[in-house]
Amino acid sequence: MQRGQREKWKKARALIENSDRETVGFIEGPPTMNGEPHIGHIRGRVIKDIFYRMESLKGRKVFFRAGWDTQGLPVELEAERELGITGNKYQVLNQVGEDTLVKKCKELVHKYNESWVKADTVLGMMFNYDLAYWTYKDEYIEKEWDILRTANAKGLLYEDYRVVAYCPSCQTSLSNSEVALGYKEVIDPSLFYKVKLIDQDSYLIVWTTMPFTIVTDEAVAVNPDEIYKKLKVGNEIWFVGSTSLESFVKVTGIEYVILGELKGTELDGKRYMPPLLEEVPGQKNMFNDGAAHKVFAEQFVDVTTGSGIVHLSPANGEEDFEVGKKRNLPVFNPIDDQVRFTEQAGKYRGLFVRDADDIIAEDLKRKGLLVKYGKIKHSYPTCWRSGHKLIYMARKEYFYDIGQIGESALSEASKVEYYYEQPKNRFLDIIREKKPWCISRERVWGTPLPVWVCKNCGKRIYLFSRREIVDNAKSLPDGQNFELHKPWIDRIIIKCPYCGGDAYREPFVLDTWHNSGAAPYASLKNEEYNKIIPAEFLTEAIDQTRGWAYTLLIEGVLFNGKSPYRSFLFTGHVVDEKGEKMSKSKGNVVYANEILSKYPADLIRLYLMWKASPIDTLNFDIKEMTGRPYQILNTLNNLHTYYSINAKYDNYKWSEENRGEISEKEKWILSELDELFKSYMELYEKRKMNEMVRVLDRFLIEEVSQKYVPIIRNELWDDTPEMSARRNGIYWTLGKLLRSLDILLHPIAPYLTDSLFEQVFDAKESIIIHGFEEIDVRLVDVALVNKYSFIWNIISLSNSARMKAKLKRRWPLNTMLIYSEKNVDKSYLELIKQLSNVKEVKLVNALNELPIEVKISLRRGELGRAFKREASDVEKTIQSMQNKELVYQIVKNGQVNAGKYIIPAGLFDIFYIPREGYELAADKNLVVVLSLERDEKLVNEGYVRDVARRVQYARKERGYNPTDIIESADLYVEDKELYDALFNKEDVLGSLTRVKKITTHFGNPNTNGFLKMDLDDKVIYIKI
Ligand SMILES: [Zn+2]
Ligand SMILES: [Zn+2]
Repeated sequence: MQRGQREKWKKARALIENSDRETVGFIEGPPTMNGEPHIGHIRGRVIKDIFYRMESLKGRKVFFRAGWDTQGLPVELEAERELGITGNKYQVLNQVGEDTLVKKCKELVHKYNESWVKADTVLGMMFNYDLAYWTYKDEYIEKEWDILRTANAKGLLYEDYRVVAYCPSCQTSLSNSEVALGYKEVIDPSLFYKVKLIDQDSYLIVWTTMPFTIVTDEAVAVNPDEIYKKLKVGNEIWFVGSTSLESFVKVTGIEYVILGELKGTELDGKRYMPPLLEEVPGQKNMFNDGAAHKVFAEQFVDVTTGSGIVHLSPANGEEDFEVGKKRNLPVFNPIDDQVRFTEQAGKYRGLFVRDADDIIAEDLKRKGLLVKYGKIKHSYPTCWRSGHKLIYMARKEYFYDIGQIGESALSEASKVEYYYEQPKNRFLDIIREKKPWCISRERVWGTPLPVWVCKNCGKRIYLFSRREIVDNAKSLPDGQNFELHKPWIDRIIIKCPYCGGDAYREPFVLDTWHNSGAAPYASLKNEEYNKIIPAEFLTEAIDQTRGWAYTLLIEGVLFNGKSPYRSFLFTGHVVDEKGEKMSKSKGNVVYANEILSKYPADLIRLYLMWKASPIDTLNFDIKEMTGRPYQILNTLNNLHTYYSINAKYDNYKWSEENRGEISEKEKWILSELDELFKSYMELYEKRKMNEMVRVLDRFLIEEVSQKYVPIIRNELWDDTPEMSARRNGIYWTLGKLLRSLDILLHPIAPYLTDSLFEQVFDAKESIIIHGFEEIDVRLVDVALVNKYSFIWNIISLSNSARMKAKLKRRWPLNTMLIYSEKNVDKSYLELIKQLSNVKEVKLVNALNELPIEVKISLRRGELGRAFKREASDVEKTIQSMQNKELVYQIVKNGQVNAGKYIIPAGLFDIFYIPREGYELAADKNLVVVLSLERDEKLVNEGYVRDVARRVQYARKERGYNPTDIIESADLYVEDKELYDALFNKEDVLGSLTRVKKITTHFGNPNTNGFLKMDLDDKVIYIKI
């Protein structure tokens, strides 16, 4: 069945794609092909699919192509693992070869893609996979380069330093997530040294765990709020933070006298002598320029460790780099790719930086600047691959200057529809940061940065297409059609246009976020791009505020000044039923293919929409999924069966014209349908999928199944020819309701709705093609809706009175009394009688005509608050009034006029107490009282109905259709009272159950073939 539906959808999609419908733009946020899809992915995908199907139903054509994010670190790392690259990446890559790694990456991407497409297929996604985009393909890469070209032309592409965590062994930088993998307890130096202030004869005591960074030292930082103690140590004056003084003294064992103190802010701006001035020429240059070597008071300084004073090396620390930038420090970076000091480091050149630690400590000692050189055990990141301690160091990288386009990005982003406030604010705040975007990465598997640098003159050569590369190449070792990836592109030497020298590519690839951010332009042909961008609607999970939504916007604004989307729905994450994050390590991940093999796709889709607002975190609970959401689908299915069995019985075939005789009941339910349609569509436009399901659920179960069907059931039973026009009217209406529900629910539960539409209404095409037109019956009759809502209100009060009195709804009662503030139309009474199963309904004009007591009590506390000092006077006035008068005024006017006071009804509690033999239920100005008296006749009638239900059940058990007429049935009862009740009632029972002849026997049948059933405390045996 599922496959059949999918075939239909494929045809429908082709039909729509070839039509001249109005075109709607959509771009798939490409999932990364580095893992199996899970339930969180399903949630997002369902919302996308709903968008496609809803818009198609509206008569539009959505560009709905799949897209796959294929490059980047996670794929590269898994490929490395599979190839057994575990040690030093640099060396092993030389042995294995980059081409092998790239081949492996592609294999992995395609392996995961199979899983994704499989899950998508079962889920019922309407994506076009033939036209899917893949971010690693040459044609995509070349288009992505067009965005770089534009950035470069606009002066937005620039080179700058960025501090990265770098593995000296692998000779590559590590991402934050890789760094997080390798934290270990390690032994490091703990060095306290002295820094002399220039304008006075005193020293700041600085602490570091990386002595080599004193080579790149550019500033000393204190905490602005810390109190620094002025100590006399020997003949010198030292400054040490007061918070860490005790531990400092313990570690260093110094003798001291406190001379005074000052606040961190007072040290700000003072200059100091760089400790390695004589050893490092770069230090001397900076010192002579006056560009560095000042004290900064900065909040980030931790006063609880070391001496409460640290030094800053912008080339060797992320925070140092940021502060340095803020304080206009240059970046002194005398370290090469192998993490060795260069010429500019003078005495230390050629040393691996960590190997300089001890030598530097020696030098400080010689210069009288050493306080204490010890060891410390602390947590520090190491390379997860090779185990080496990472070095933070500044590397030249490529950036986009977001500052220049930040304002237009913000103004473009402000025009976008986000549907919900909170993610909008979060997103706009991120754009306001205007942080430079580092787009280069030191990796293998990615879109290469097409920039070459001349070895001879040092100029940069930008070649943003294969054509340009080929035209400028000195040699093309892999021919003109080389793959646009490492290692092939790196084998090409470009002839420098400025000096004719050899130019080599900058070894970077692009940030993968740049790949997917280029999707609107890179995945479409230019004419398609012009037609559908800005896309009408995009949606991804909330974390994409920093991810895809951001890079899309930035690349769009950079490219042509525009946001590539008009609306963006950010969705919440999916967690487990206890609210815990799903993770591999906890073993609570719900994988897409697994859950889709166990439960119907429609149920999963419906549940994910029903459970929570798109923006909220969703606790995925299988038990809950099989509750109400299952009931919704099941009710829809059952109603179709009910319709189709009955319609078949009368040979009724649904068509728009075959309307039969429509009564007020039909006009009422069709009015409700119109209301549903309106609110459903409004909720969709606001992307309130959960509320869409709620209104549809309410209409389907409460209005159609629990109200409309019960009030027409008797008319359908009447199979006389005179009533056939009426029956056709009911079939037409029921058909209309079900067809409409199929269409409305289709985007959420496509399989069931399409298959019901096909089976019950002989539809040849998918609902997608059918559209919304027929639902709009324009029948809203407000008066009718109000009338029925009043009737339902009475029925619901009657039911709750029955519940209190423990009287089943199918047990007939004699009398119902109604007091209503509103005038009750006499024409309502028949329907009320029928629905509430009473013989007689009486309307009374006043409360005192009801067999009830009314008690009134005053809410004294609230009276006091409302009337303050006059409260006791008001109370006295009320006490002087008749109870009856009070009730009358409260019910009639909603307030009490007591002398000069007007007292609102809310200050009273009214209790209705039924007299013996009655039960009641009340709602505002409506009181419904039931007489509980049941004479033998009523009791017997109740028994007949109870038994009829069991016969119905037995029919069903035996496989009969509700419309089948059965020849005979036998009943055995062992209870005298029940036997008496049924005796001579066989005709009634027969007509209630469509059995021609029913025979009642006293006793036990003592043979097989009987269904034994309970009836309260009695037993009945039925054979059909
Ligand atoms: Zn390493
Ligand atoms: Zn050159």
